[in-house]
Amino acid sequence: MSVLITNIAELTTNGQERSAAPDPAAAPTGFAAVTDAALVIEQGRVAWTGPASRAPAADEMVDAEGRAVLPGFVDSHAHLVFAGERGAEFAARMAGQPYRAGGIRSTVAATRQATDGQLRANLRRLAAEMLAQGITTFECKSGYGLTVGDEERSVAIAAEVTHEVTYLGAHVVPPEFDGDPAGYVDLVCGAMLDACAPHARWVDVFCEQGAFGRDEAAAVLAAGMAAGLQARVHANQLTAGPGVQLAVEVGAASADHCSNLTDADVEALATSATAATLLPGVEFSTRHPYPDARRLLDAGATVALATDCNPGSCFTSSMPLCIALAVREMHMTTQEAVWAATAGGARALRRTDVGHLGVGARADLVMIDGPSHAYLAYRPGVPLVVGVWRAGERLAGGERLAGG
Ligand SMILES: [Zn+2]
Repeated sequence: MSVLITNIAELTTNGQERSAAPDPAAAPTGFAAVTDAALVIEQGRVAWTGPASRAPAADEMVDAEGRAVLPGFVDSHAHLVFAGERGAEFAARMAGQPYRAGGIRSTVAATRQATDGQLRANLRRLAAEMLAQGITTFECKSGYGLTVGDEERSVAIAAEVTHEVTYLGAHVVPPEFDGDPAGYVDLVCGAMLDACAPHARWVDVFCEQGAFGRDEAAAVLAAGMAAGLQARVHANQLTAGPGVQLAVEVGAASADHCSNLTDADVEALATSATAATLLPGVEFSTRHPYPDARRLLDAGATVALATDCNPGSCFTSSMPLCIALAVREMHMTTQEAVWAATAGGARALRRTDVGHLGVGARADLVMIDGPSHAYLAYRPGVPLVVGVWRAGERLAGGERLAGG
């Protein structure tokens, strides 16, 4: 069964279909698009892309009616296994109270009290919310259990909905280890890791004042990598600490946040395979200064955008919001922001099958109600996603397209 989507005003393919000489000034990150385009899906993969006038026949046809189609968004950073909510903390923060890493503990308490069914239901609700807004691949972290049993069930429940599961036992030191952070790091690197590693692909650590220092973070990553996991790091969120340098040293796929960077950090990211994952929803929701995306892009670093959806510092599941913030507040071009939310996220997850629409890519698509990708930032806050396909299967939005 083949499906032809035609009459696409702009098809963002991301560097797979360069029709003209790349213009580094206009599209330094690999964004590429075809106008008046069509795309053919076969067996869950992209089988053909090109001008609509040359499109081959297919078993089924979808008329995009002049809308834009993009790769499904790849969200490489989310914390979706938790219970409870922290709306009051957000309101207090907006009234002037500062954000501190310790706020995570209230979610830990609620998560420990929740049943597996409650955690699963909350996760599935958020995953469905993401999908409806065009996120077709997402990473999901543990980190609100912080006991062997609660971390193990967190990664096991996450693995039911995504392949990109991250063990984040080193999120904060839980209250029962107050005064004994070394004892907690031993647990994270020992029995907790043994229980979680079979369910996870990644190991992560919150390297920050109030969470884990450089040596503790290095120990957590080394233990996780020895257990077969790949590294990613919460780095340089609140302070210009050692997280980015550590991430690059261990060959992490991504250093996430990057809101406070030294020149050496920027240089390290620009000359490594470690992506800089920016999470502008956090700065929006904590009223902190946004990361300097231009400095990273101009230095040649790979920049990804992700939601960081979590109940504390940023409770959005909207990649279009992150794109709009990146463009408006971080001076990324619309092309750079869309690339970062698709191909950049794929880089941050070391995936080559998603984040682009080259022939052979997984047919993960987003159709938006506008003629170009720029509408994602040009029309902020508007629910523009009118169609979502994952692995060639249409999942959301069909009812919103007349005749679609
Ligand atoms: Zn995070």
